Amino acid sequence: MAEKGKGKGGPKKETIARYYTVKDGKVLRKNTWCPKCGPGIFLAVHGDRTSCGKCGYTEFRKEAGPKK
Ligand SMILES: [Zn+2]
Repeated sequence: MAEKGKGKGGPKKETIARYYTVKDGKVLRKNTWCPKCGPGIFLAVHGDRTSCGKCGYTEFRKEAGPKK
């Protein structure tokens, strides 16, 4: 019975860290809320755009710079 590393359930501690970043003691929001669904509904980041998985709202990111 060789038990392999099955069922890796990593903790989701970094979930918040993905949405917020702390800079100079200030909490900056990485993602934006969905203007349609309202606060609480984050827009999912997809490369150069963000989209809401709830209503389908898509917003192109202005900060999308040239790829390195
Ligand atoms: Zn939405």
